[in-house]
Amino acid sequence: MKVYALSGGYLELDSAIFFADRAPGTRVTAPIGCALVIHPRGRLLFDTGVHCAAIADPVARLGEARAKRFGVRSGPDDHVVAQLALLGLAPDDVSHVANSHLHFDHCGGNEFFPRARFLVQRRELDAARDAATLALGRYTPSARDFDHPLDYHAIDGEHDVFGDGAVVLMPTFGHTPGHQSLRVRPATGDEIVFTADACYTQETMDRDVLPGVLWDAGEMRDSLAALRRLRDGHGARMIYGHDAGQWRAMRRAPEALV
Ligand SMILES: [Zn+2]
Repeated sequence: MKVYALSGGYLELDSAIFFADRAPGTRVTAPIGCALVIHPRGRLLFDTGVHCAAIADPVARLGEARAKRFGVRSGPDDHVVAQLALLGLAPDDVSHVANSHLHFDHCGGNEFFPRARFLVQRRELDAARDAATLALGRYTPSARDFDHPLDYHAIDGEHDVFGDGAVVLMPTFGHTPGHQSLRVRPATGDEIVFTADACYTQETMDRDVLPGVLWDAGEMRDSLAALRRLRDGHGARMIYGHDAGQWRAMRRAPEALV
């Protein structure tokens, strides 16, 4: 089994978005990490980043308000299709796609995978489809990014992708109604957890500070505690959702993470 960290783009944003206790006014550039797991039974892509069209024309793709809140700072190859090409792969070589959740920076590339089986928590799909039509206040899924004729499979809670315990989707609700993280156990014995937005950065986990904007604080705190137990109690390696320092120091595609 091999695991790769793929760039799904870079966004400049106010750091107060990450930490509820921080005063607004400081802009930071955050990476959007995606992961590719190559398993004997298939290839799983975890998250699809920001849509590649946002690189050339952010306002046209994201809309004016979102493009103002989030500056697109991606280079030309910072999108999943180009990242797969670095590994000699095309989108059709990906058998499974799992979205951590359906915000625009995590499902932007979904439309490029019409042959893949999509694995998304039922709570997330239901809320996103509801929110897209009913405009639920605290949750803004990106219908333009996920609402395509794709092979979506709703999953409920923990899901063992290939049936051998090596690649497991783990419910980490709270950031959004049906957020999930990815646990990978390569044969080397180490365990890697891609938290996605259940934990933006290492500081989030170390200081136990939630973002200001989220779906359910109680659920998110429980999810963060479960992830922390995996890190501090089981020695799992956390790959945080948007941690610039960790991302810079990490082995990324075309190099394998493990
Ligand atoms: Zn995100």
